[in-house]
Amino acid sequence: MMKLSHYPFRNQFVVLMMTLASLMIAFYSIFTYFNEKEEYLSELGNEIKVISRVLENDYARLLMIGLPSESIELLNKWKQFPIIEHVDLKEMSGQSILHYSKLDQPHQTFHNIKPQETLEANQLDRVGHLFFYKDIVEFNGEEVGVVSYVISNKKYDALVGELTKRIAISILIALALAVFLSLWLQKIFVAPLKRLMIRIKKIADDQLYSKTLSINENDKSELASLAKHFNVLLQRMDKTLTEVENSRVLAQELAYYDDLTGLANRRLLTEHMEYVLDIATRENQHGALLFIDLDNFKTLNDSRGHAAGDELLKKVAESLKKVFRSTDTIARLGGDEFVILSGHLEDSEEAVINQVHSLMLKLRHVLSEKFVVLGESYHLTASIGITTFPNMADNIDILMKQADTAMYRAKEAGRDGYHFYQPEMQAIADSRLQMETDLRLALEADELELFYQPQVDEFGRILGVEALLRWFKKDGSMVSPADFIPIAEMTGLILPVGEWVIKEAFKQLAIWQRGDISPSFRVSINISPYQFHQNDFVQDIKGLLNESGALASHVTLEMTEGITIKDIQSTIDKMEKLSDMGFKLSMDDFGTGYSSLMYLKKLPLNELKVDQSFVRDLETDRSDAEIAATIIAMAKNLKLEVVAEGVEDESQLAFLTHHGCLVFQGYYFYKPMKAADLTELMFGHAVIL
Ligand code: C2E
Ligand code: MG
Ligand code: MG
Repeated sequence: MMKLSHYPFRNQFVVLMMTLASLMIAFYSIFTYFNEKEEYLSELGNEIKVISRVLENDYARLLMIGLPSESIELLNKWKQFPIIEHVDLKEMSGQSILHYSKLDQPHQTFHNIKPQETLEANQLDRVGHLFFYKDIVEFNGEEVGVVSYVISNKKYDALVGELTKRIAISILIALALAVFLSLWLQKIFVAPLKRLMIRIKKIADDQLYSKTLSINENDKSELASLAKHFNVLLQRMDKTLTEVENSRVLAQELAYYDDLTGLANRRLLTEHMEYVLDIATRENQHGALLFIDLDNFKTLNDSRGHAAGDELLKKVAESLKKVFRSTDTIARLGGDEFVILSGHLEDSEEAVINQVHSLMLKLRHVLSEKFVVLGESYHLTASIGITTFPNMADNIDILMKQADTAMYRAKEAGRDGYHFYQPEMQAIADSRLQMETDLRLALEADELELFYQPQVDEFGRILGVEALLRWFKKDGSMVSPADFIPIAEMTGLILPVGEWVIKEAFKQLAIWQRGDISPSFRVSINISPYQFHQNDFVQDIKGLLNESGALASHVTLEMTEGITIKDIQSTIDKMEKLSDMGFKLSMDDFGTGYSSLMYLKKLPLNELKVDQSFVRDLETDRSDAEIAATIIAMAKNLKLEVVAEGVEDESQLAFLTHHGCLVFQGYYFYKPMKAADLTELMFGHAVIL
């Protein structure tokens, strides 16, 4: 059974009021009944008392004298009182003297009742008869008999009928009043509560927690106070929800977008790729995936600090947005790696390739604009790898790998360019990856060794040596530095490798210093630009020098033109510090890079090395010969020493000597050799430690 509290307020109110009314009516009825009954009985009692008093003498006379005429007279008198039904007059002995019965039949209970000295009506029999008793006293005060009356119940019946009618009417009026009252009360109390409830429900249903309930400021009622509290609750809820929503949005952004540039991150890219690939394969459409890596970003980041690097990345991101369409997904995977997924699908692979070609032109144009970062301008280039789908692959991981491989290919091909993936590239990429892993292990496994190639004068007298790195694998094979140095540079492995080289060369130099070497004897050490641009490079090399006991005056640091790619002033500052420490500075592979003469003039250099590519074809290629001659002349002009690399025969030597070159390095004199062999060569015996 449902509890009352489960019903609406309105019904509860009505039931409550009806119950109250019914209870009140019940009390009223009981009270009225007993009251009326009491009154009625006392009225009858009085009447009987009066009758008794009037007839008292007659009773006494009859009892005393007992004339029959008097009996008849008495019977007639009793008859005159309609309320009297039975009368019994008895002597004290209990002997009945005279009996009257309206209906001529004796009352049943009449005889059983013991006479009492009372006329108080106190007994009602089952059908409502009343009994009265009265002792009869003679003139001299002696009790002579007793009279008992039975009174008709007709009046009593009429009274009960009247009472029932009155109670019924009261009940009806009370119930009507209860209904009316409950409706009125519910209008006053329940209806506003209900209105409030509907408004609250609407807010909850619409979930518009920023809304509030309108309240009359002057309303001091409890309901208004409830609404006010509810408004406070709403405001808090709205605030909390806004905070929750904000953190949800933030979490979503963090999860899907790159923090720095606001571009898509790997996760979003993957999701978009899944979607685009699905359409492409289903509808036989074609698209492209591009892997972009900025050339020399690492160098800039390390030399100018991360703040500069970050700013540049943001600017690049903006430029990429200018080049690619909004349907494309531009993502940054970290560092300077950007990936573009062309979401604009074409009907054929050719169409995709054409599209990409024109996009690449646009990209190069945008990147060629000056990028001003922390007050300095940079010229940016990028290496880009491209693969197409679904022809090349229909799997995200494979496509990413292909684009990455093609990007490396672009880097190898001299950077600042783009390459489409070709299946055969994968093998190269795999072997390069293998090489990176192996090189890491080689450092620990002691597979690296320094060879030394003498630098000589035209008569073959040793003036110095160049330290050249060799990697001998456990299986006896040798990996050329030309193969692994570029990979070490790309992966950052050049730092531990380069440090090892410096340490090793210093150690060897310290040994030779104990032998009889000329004060001008030099060991040349190759320093890669990435290594040079490390913030602590000067500090580190100084530490290694002190540790080893080698003298800076016996050391030449060879650098390539790559170091000028960045902020020229900091490069100069650093070179000056090295110069002040006593190191000689040499520009290696001169002529192959793109450093300008103006830069060259500013750098505190001591030496230029003519790249072997110009020496190799001196006789056959006139322009090479001219370049070589020009470099030598220029070096002289700038008061720089000049070393010719890769001298392999006499005629090359003759040409170079003729043009004023004084120092030579090449197979014509010596090949790079082990330290021990060189020691033997220089001193004719091992140096005693
Ligand atoms: P590089 O610094 O220009 O070194 C000269 C290269 O020319 C050496 O090649 C040397 O063996 C080679 N060479 C010398 N004379 C001749 C010749 O007459 N004919 C021919 N064909 N080649 C000759 P290597 O040792 O293979 O080194 C290649 C490059 O690897 C070096 O070019 C240098 O750039 C880099 N490298 C070598 N060792 C290191 C190193 O320890 N650190 C760094 N950063 N780079 C190194
Ligand atoms: Mg060199
Ligand atoms: Mg060189």
